[in-house]
Amino acid sequence: MTALLELIGVSKRFPLGRRRMFSKVPPAHVHAVDDVSLGVAPGETVGLVGESGCGKSTLVRLITRLLDVTDGTISFDRREISDVPAKLFARDVDRTHIQMVFQDAGESINPRFTATDAIADPLRRLLRLKGAALQSRVEEAALQCGLPLELLGRFPHQLSGGQRARVGIARAIGTRPRLLVLDEPTAALDVSVQVTVLKLLQQLKVELGLSYIFVSHDLNVVRLLCDRVVVMYLGRIVEQGPAQAVFDAPLHPYTRSLIAAVPRLDGARSDVPRLTGEPRSPVDPDPNACRFHGRCPVGEDRCGTAMPALREFAGERFAACHLAG
Ligand code: SF4
Repeated sequence: MTALLELIGVSKRFPLGRRRMFSKVPPAHVHAVDDVSLGVAPGETVGLVGESGCGKSTLVRLITRLLDVTDGTISFDRREISDVPAKLFARDVDRTHIQMVFQDAGESINPRFTATDAIADPLRRLLRLKGAALQSRVEEAALQCGLPLELLGRFPHQLSGGQRARVGIARAIGTRPRLLVLDEPTAALDVSVQVTVLKLLQQLKVELGLSYIFVSHDLNVVRLLCDRVVVMYLGRIVEQGPAQAVFDAPLHPYTRSLIAAVPRLDGARSDVPRLTGEPRSPVDPDPNACRFHGRCPVGEDRCGTAMPALREFAGERFAACHLAG
């Protein structure tokens, strides 16, 4: 199936400081995202997991074109969108097709906006809607998200956490997008509210034919919701594949450690070694070493001198480890 969204060799580097005049020494760079290739099919939910600082947030900001790529290409519906500068993409037609739901709707919505203002804002900016057409689209999105119309005049502080989350989702679906990027959409909510919001997302996906990129720390939710999972470590993809297969039999030592750290309902403890220490610095990392080397419980000498490529395994699975398979 043709991918709705396709990334090929995408990298993002941030310079640390400016190059001094006449200096021959180039400035150091933070390698936030490094050579990432992935696709999202129509109707698919792809989970993006990894520790803080692994590059997930930068990657979703590249996909939603809030940031420009340093290298590589991003295509949406077979049209390259990474060659449109981020500032111009804010007015691009495909901006309406790729929308983002932020982690904490209470933080991402302007506190001076009512729910109506918040949902109407992208409709005004991107679709130039106004008057009755605007109001009708706002109410349609609110009702699709289970938000009673009598709440539309309220400000964020007058809404519960669950209601604010619904405003954030209504704001994202108002432009009738095809891809939603969900950045930890339930992390700021109580567990009982999380369940209702996740059910709403499932329902909207089917009703509106959406594709999702679902960024989460909660591997139980990723396992439940996602068709495919992509595991990132220090800016690179270290494993990807069908979610069930990855969770049942992870190929990469990092994925094994992440899954082993998830508390189990039966209270049993995994015998996979727990992750200790911190990831290495993302500033100019050694291009000739595995990024997980030094922290990997099964690393060998060669891991410090040869970067493992992302190799394909049976069942549409990929892993970047010399020992995988
Ligand atoms: Fe561990 Fe080596 Fe595999 Fe990297 S290549 S994950 S260091 S075993």
